[in-house]
Amino acid sequence: MRAAAAPPRARPWWQAFGIAGVLATVLYTVGPNSTADAVCFAVIAAGTVVGCFVVPLRFAVRPRSAWPVLGAAALCFLIGVILRPLVTSRPLLADAATVPGYLLLGVFFCILLWARGSIERHAVLDGLIVCLAGGLASVLLLAAPAATVPGRPAVVSVLAGLYPLFDVVLLAMGINLTFTARSWPPSLVSLVTGIALILTGDLAYAIIGVSGRTYASPLLDVPFLLAYTLIGVSAMHPSVVEMGRADRPPVQAWSWQRMTLLVPAVATPFVLLLTVGGHSFAYRMLIGACGLAIVALLMLRAILAVQAQVAAQLHSEFQAMHDPLTGLPNRRMITTEVERLIARLPVGGGARVWVGLLDLDGFKWVNDSWGHDTGDQLVIEVARRLRAAVPPGTMLARVGGDEFLVTYVGDEPGALRLVDEIQGCFATPVPVRDTEVVITASIGLAHAPAGGDPAAVTEALLRDADTAMYRSKGEGPGRSTIFDASMHDRVRERIELEGALRTALAEGGLTVVYQPIVRLETGRPTGAESLVRWNHPERGPIPPMTFIPVAEDAGLIEPLGTWVRNEALHQLAQWRADGTVDEDFYLSINVSPLQLADPQLPATVEAELRRYGVPASAVALEMTESVMVDGGGTAARVLYELRELGLRLLVDDFGTGFSALGYLRRFPVTGVKIDRSFVAGLGESAEDEEIVRAVVAMSRALGLGIVAEGVETRAQRDALAATGVTQAQGWLWGPGVSPGDFALHWAADRHVPGPAPLAAGHQPLG
Ligand code: C2E
Ligand code: CA
Ligand code: CA
Repeated sequence: MRAAAAPPRARPWWQAFGIAGVLATVLYTVGPNSTADAVCFAVIAAGTVVGCFVVPLRFAVRPRSAWPVLGAAALCFLIGVILRPLVTSRPLLADAATVPGYLLLGVFFCILLWARGSIERHAVLDGLIVCLAGGLASVLLLAAPAATVPGRPAVVSVLAGLYPLFDVVLLAMGINLTFTARSWPPSLVSLVTGIALILTGDLAYAIIGVSGRTYASPLLDVPFLLAYTLIGVSAMHPSVVEMGRADRPPVQAWSWQRMTLLVPAVATPFVLLLTVGGHSFAYRMLIGACGLAIVALLMLRAILAVQAQVAAQLHSEFQAMHDPLTGLPNRRMITTEVERLIARLPVGGGARVWVGLLDLDGFKWVNDSWGHDTGDQLVIEVARRLRAAVPPGTMLARVGGDEFLVTYVGDEPGALRLVDEIQGCFATPVPVRDTEVVITASIGLAHAPAGGDPAAVTEALLRDADTAMYRSKGEGPGRSTIFDASMHDRVRERIELEGALRTALAEGGLTVVYQPIVRLETGRPTGAESLVRWNHPERGPIPPMTFIPVAEDAGLIEPLGTWVRNEALHQLAQWRADGTVDEDFYLSINVSPLQLADPQLPATVEAELRRYGVPASAVALEMTESVMVDGGGTAARVLYELRELGLRLLVDDFGTGFSALGYLRRFPVTGVKIDRSFVAGLGESAEDEEIVRAVVAMSRALGLGIVAEGVETRAQRDALAATGVTQAQGWLWGPGVSPGDFALHWAADRHVPGPAPLAAGHQPLG
């Protein structure tokens, strides 16, 4: 395998520039004349200026505005440096360029600090403290002596003394940048070192300024030349993109990095008092005032730090107890509340503690069809409505994706009123984004009297509310149920049933029976429906109506369906081989909607047909209308592929589900099975007869086959024949029987006239 191509290597401009800078510095130091010096300086400084302006074009730096500002600052400094030796008599001309340079540099740092989110109250206070200390030191040590130099304007001397102060402020800002960097990218190190070099150079100028000079030798500019080089390297290095983003949360208010800034600053007044403090009373007053201001700032900073700590503590406590999406209390908080309510409930009073668990119906469907954002919006809106619906003092919590919990203390009528209020929240559709979602909620209620261990009672209450909520879900959307002890038994029974079914499936405890589907004209079978049977070792036969839903819930329907299908296909192959059935005979197999959600089903069925050597046309699959009415894209694709294989597709229990029949045309169904509830009414209910007649007319028009189910009497059979139904199944001909019995009664070569003898237990009614 070829390795992924490495990104094109950035040309090491910064390296070339760094080397050029060092060479220029050497040349400058040992250089032959002032022209060469000027050239060296101008080249490097111009390189830096250009580098700064080009950064935003070369790299995706953020914020884009910062680097051109730095370039402008570098330009100002360059002008200042060029002017200074030329205007020794009027140094203010050079300062007129240099001072704006400092301001621009300050702006540059502010932009970066702002972008990194590292301007905070304590950072600003730290800056003030450092400025006070640095300012005091530079005024007393540099500016004041310079101001006493005779024969030149005071402003020149003071400016010379103040440059180091500017640098201290800038350095403090640069160091602040490093506080929000996990690693120090080369760009950052280079930049901060450059600023430190400027500080050194300015200090040197200030020191000569004390003796009244504003310019001494080109050597004084060496630090500036190196600073230019470093700032240029900083701008050209690829890591410059990291400068604008903070890669870790700002450090603690009292980190060691900050202390290394603060301790020298706080010590400054004391050191000054011991050194130059003796000069005059005015000096001592100034030092005292600055010292006091520094202490005041330190105290303010300490108070702010404590406040921030408390706020952070409160914030994290709130977060630990609340749901971030809705701001409602979370499970932890409401559990504590329920425990508190139980502990405080007076024993002997009629009141009980109630817990209501609410789960939105079809929330997963909303999430799947509109995306999680819409799901979140829906939850937020539901939370808002619920909050407005529950009385003040009643705690409402979000305890899961679409689950809410509410507590209540009182009697049953009160609790039911609350449930009504809550259900009322879903009366109107919820507008989310540009749609409106009709949503309902299933609610489970549980209650407990006073007494008992609050923690244990709470746990039981939450579990019972959950059980009751699932009960509600089982009864359809928008229901509410109060927990009663029998539900536990039902849950336990269901769990036991699930385990037993698993065993039966694994150990061959299931069988398949076959019920004939006859041609009404002849009374001879044209096909058969396979029906699964389970004989529980202790409880005897368990009807499929009981265990199929359990299998669907427990994820067993897929293996169960596959087993039945293989059993049935195997049987069909055998019957076809031994002549029990003829070529036209078809076998009908039930499939659950969940099976049709599996995109692999057609391929699996195709392989099975091949394995048993059965043509697809001899197999029908029966599915309920729900598959086609609310089945998504997968079910539709699966149905088309199955039909393409040549299988017949029948709509089971036709007429019981949905009134919209458009799906009959949209899906490739080949026939319908009229539900036995309509057949039962034949000969008695004119309405049922009408329905059957309508189904026959419609199916004819659509070219669909018709099978009538549950035919028990001759009267029903005759009524069906009169309406034009051609195929039927039911106890009139016989229930589902074992393969052996089927062959015995219904073999193609046995010509038994009229209905076959019925199996024990089913009495013909007609
Ligand atoms: P269904 O598909 O409607 O199956 C027909 C049901 O009607 C069967 O009940 C059958 O025994 C019963 N029946 C047949 N003739 C008469 C009659 O004349 N009168 C009356 N009252 N009932 C009659 P069974 O076997 O209990 O199956 C119940 C349901 O269980 C089936 O309804 C089907 O939905 C499901 N089922 C059965 N076997 C399977 C299977 O292998 N896979 C799946 N997914 N579901 C199955
Ligand atoms: Ca069926
Ligand atoms: Ca049916």
